[in-house]
Amino acid sequence: MQSLETIKGIGPKTQKVLTRLNIKDIQDLIQYYPFRYDIIEKMKIEDLKDQEKVVLEGNIENIPTLFFINRRLDKMTFRLRAEEQLFSVIIFNRGFLKPKLTVGKKIVVIGKYDKKHQTITAAEIRLESIMETKIEPVYHTIYGITGGQIHTLINSSLELGNYESYIPEYLEEKYHFLNRKESIYHIHNPKDAILLKKAENRIKYEELFLFMLEMNYLKEKKNNRFGIKRTISKERLNSFIKTLPFSLTEDQKKAVEEIYQDLSNEKRMNRLLQGDVGSGKTIIAFLAIYMNYLSGYQSALMAPTEILASQHFFNLKKIMEQEDLRIELLTGKLKVKEKRAIYEKLENGQIDVVIGTHALISEQVLYKNLGLVITDEQHRFGVHQRGNLKNKGLTPDILYMSATPIPRTYALTLYGDMDISSIKTMPNGRIPVKTYLRKTKDMKDILTKMLEQLKKKHQIYVIAPLIEESDKVDLTNVVTLKENMEKAFGKYYKIGVLHGKMDNKEKEEAMASFKKNETQILISTTVVEVGVDVLNATMIVIFDSYRFGLSTLHQLRGRVGRNALESYCILISDLDKKRLEILERTTDGFEISEEDFLLRGSGDLFGEKQSGDMSFGLANVKKDYPILLKAKEDSLEFLKKHFEKEDYKRIRNIVEMSTSLD
Ligand code: ADP
Ligand code: MG
Repeated sequence: MQSLETIKGIGPKTQKVLTRLNIKDIQDLIQYYPFRYDIIEKMKIEDLKDQEKVVLEGNIENIPTLFFINRRLDKMTFRLRAEEQLFSVIIFNRGFLKPKLTVGKKIVVIGKYDKKHQTITAAEIRLESIMETKIEPVYHTIYGITGGQIHTLINSSLELGNYESYIPEYLEEKYHFLNRKESIYHIHNPKDAILLKKAENRIKYEELFLFMLEMNYLKEKKNNRFGIKRTISKERLNSFIKTLPFSLTEDQKKAVEEIYQDLSNEKRMNRLLQGDVGSGKTIIAFLAIYMNYLSGYQSALMAPTEILASQHFFNLKKIMEQEDLRIELLTGKLKVKEKRAIYEKLENGQIDVVIGTHALISEQVLYKNLGLVITDEQHRFGVHQRGNLKNKGLTPDILYMSATPIPRTYALTLYGDMDISSIKTMPNGRIPVKTYLRKTKDMKDILTKMLEQLKKKHQIYVIAPLIEESDKVDLTNVVTLKENMEKAFGKYYKIGVLHGKMDNKEKEEAMASFKKNETQILISTTVVEVGVDVLNATMIVIFDSYRFGLSTLHQLRGRVGRNALESYCILISDLDKKRLEILERTTDGFEISEEDFLLRGSGDLFGEKQSGDMSFGLANVKKDYPILLKAKEDSLEFLKKHFEKEDYKRIRNIVEMSTSLD
């Protein structure tokens, strides 16, 4: 792995920013692909459309006026003459350009057009005119680095990259792929649309081929394995179930029975438990843990967030109050010493259940006799992580849980080797959450609705897409929202905040206060999306809802309506009405995920890029499904006929490493 320091222009500061983008070496950098391309092409005035993107060339008509709105925000306005018409141009945070914007100068303005006011809100001003159509890569950025800077760094690293191919030659030839190096060059510097497409196709195929190869290899290995044969006392299980505060639904009973059968017999369990948000999957996991415990084995339960892990920890402890299971929570925030103590106990068999996040797999945790591994919200974990987990015991039984129904065809391709238990009906007494789509201008009405809930002593989640103010996008953020909510409700109610930049302790405290009803309103980003369970919360208000996928919104909505109280979800959005209306219409997660799949591709289904699973650099399971199918077929054939050949040692190593069982 080549270190980043060798690149001109990367000092310690830039390196830090890059680390936050998950770019740790040169290879990461050159494989930091654009998330989209802008087509920059001069437009004629007659082609301008209201509220749409414009790229307009013209001459500056007057000296720009510059205002400072606050220390971090400036606003510049001027008039632009194009084809003998005048436009007002507004641009934020480009005050530094003012000296260059002299009267008469020819510039290009790129932004959004407001026809009624003849105004362009510019995102960008270019001082050179545009000669020909350009395809420009757009990169995800964060504070501290611009897309342009990333692009420059990539281009100065390209020569240093490693371009060894993961596609066997005979397949490269079969599909006439561009080679890997050319492809990556074109992806960052596309000359034309056709070449770009060819380049993308190669990289996508390569990603999917390797992925399917790993999946198929895993399956093959797994099928040849036996699990644990054990005896579980049905009586103890049943009498334990009787102590639960509710009776299980029919689907839950069936799932328990299926898991009981799997665990009891010698074949290794490899089961996916699917059920919509709120359908009650957690208790099934707990019962599986109990069965595993009764037969004398250790269990590991993994959750995608620390918040969820600690919630599971406390709930399991509570439910097992009368039993003597030894349960521990292993998370990143523990001190080294505390962690070490837990590792030791796991190895000595002094712990029966360990609950945690990736910490459970990312470190060298050894178990005395791991019999069961459960992953909650399975779609949030990566396939590599799954492989790793299996590494931990001899051949532990595996249970995956997911609230995201995966359309059947995809499920069969990706998880074809699993058995599936489904919970289709909700526990009794649930009232579907009432969902309303509202505009920003309805704020008064929304606040009134919130107050009604607060007066009933119920609690409210408020969700914003951003943590803090950003000069890049105009979106609601947690910090500002907190100020505004304080103004509206602060006198009588307490308001908490929860977001990803807080450290784990702060997050846990915020969550605990909300759980205990010490705070009545919790303002948060989507970190509350998965799994969080606070029964007294009856309303969730989601700002700028258009920013989220339907499945994410459905998950968020699942935070309320978890008992017999009437609950509400208010989606605030001035855009994207049609798509969001689907949520007003239905609370059926399956229907929603199908719609999402059609509309957005797999992003939401398999978790966002950062969160792991199915996260490919370029490929998208839905959009590139035909490529996936090809890759699946080819990888199966490769596995059968060529995998063991000396020529393919490198590919074999990669596959074996990332799927190592034990
Ligand atoms: P999810 O499937 O989204 O993970 P949970 O397991 O968190 O859902 O369950 C949601 C809520 O429903 C929890 O508060 C849980 O205690 C409760 N619950 C689960 N099963 C039942 C049941 N059979 N009857 C009543 N409430 C239940
Ligand atoms: Mg859950």
